[in-house]
Amino acid sequence: MVTITRNEERPARTPPAEYFTGEVSLEPLFAAEAPARAHGARVTFQPGARTAWHTHPLGQTLIITHGSGRVGREGGPVESIQPGDVVWIQPGEKHWHGAAPDTAMTHIAVHEALDGEVVQWLERVSDEDYEGRA
Ligand code: MN
Repeated sequence: MVTITRNEERPARTPPAEYFTGEVSLEPLFAAEAPARAHGARVTFQPGARTAWHTHPLGQTLIITHGSGRVGREGGPVESIQPGDVVWIQPGEKHWHGAAPDTAMTHIAVHEALDGEVVQWLERVSDEDYEGRA
């Protein structure tokens, strides 16, 4: 069977505010049925917006499509990400991602579910963390 979901069937929504800072729009793209595991979403962060700290049980791939953004991991530098960049985040790695301070950023996020879970949310990303000053 081939299934096509049309663009208009997947309206963008605002994700839960407790897991994000700033203005974020999330468009669900796909969520596989078992035994497949892959889930995908297109996420747009307005300037300065970012996720909270979080982990993914089976890792995550980010495909940057528009704008300019940042990704940070615990104990590591804050790195700039641009359209065409592809970011792999290892299973269990504590990290965040979002827009640059003055530019919006859109990425496609792909991650696999383990026992039905694709993400574990942690604390918010402080301004110090976002600026790489922590
Ligand atoms: Mn992530």
